[in-house]
Amino acid sequence: MSYLELRDVSKVYGEGATEVRALHRIDLSVDAGSLVAVMGASGSGKSTLLTIAGSLEDPTSGEVYVGGRPLPSLSRNAKAQLRRQSIGYVFQDYNLLAGLSAVENVSLPLELDGVATRKAQSAALKALEDFGLKDRASQYPDMLSGGERQRVAIARAVVGKRQLLLADEPSGALDSTNAEAVMRLILAACHRGMAAVVVTHDAQLASWADRVVFLRDGRIVDQTLPVESPEAVLADLPNQ
Ligand code: ADP
Ligand code: MG
Repeated sequence: MSYLELRDVSKVYGEGATEVRALHRIDLSVDAGSLVAVMGASGSGKSTLLTIAGSLEDPTSGEVYVGGRPLPSLSRNAKAQLRRQSIGYVFQDYNLLAGLSAVENVSLPLELDGVATRKAQSAALKALEDFGLKDRASQYPDMLSGGERQRVAIARAVVGKRQLLLADEPSGALDSTNAEAVMRLILAACHRGMAAVVVTHDAQLASWADRVVFLRDGRIVDQTLPVESPEAVLADLPNQ
């Protein structure tokens, strides 16, 4: 069943001469346990799509359902609670708090949600351990490499009982080895049941997704299953 569903969603910024149609009549559903990659040129609406899916902004028209609940029906507080408890965000520039250690960064959303500090820290430590970052737990972001920072950011986005992972070019600033490591963690979160939407410019990484959605000028212009690997295509050819 779909954990995230956008129905006929449009988003217009500004009005009159400055009007920008950032999204136009988008339909998208993402099942629990599945990974959708979003590709498209700069300005095609990818970030707007994630912001609306994550209830950070309202669409101009159309409907958004998260966990089967229509977002407009939720109060401000209920939306904030949904964001804290169920939705994890990952950004290209990590967005870790510089004054907090890795484990404190990861435990913060749990503590903001009222989980006792010790319990939150032990859950955070477990998440870091799962990501191979146990020995980095007490380090501050400026002591970590880019790849490590992004893995900490993903740990923060999946810790607790999160069900929706929204990642906006999470590997955009990383080399290919670290980019793959980050994608692998996102995939692992999906295998544990999260629904995920990942914006990426990298066709190779997008091919790991269950589905790839292509945006152009705010519209979905194509939706595909991942491209078959060259080996699979060759295997289908008759003997030469
Ligand atoms: P992408 O992430 O694919 O680069 P965005 O979703 O950021 O694209 O932007 C889509 C379009 O909406 C762009 O034309 C952008 O300039 C415009 N836009 C995005 N956010 C705002 C905003 N807050 N106010 C006005 N225009 C915006
Ligand atoms: Mg963007």
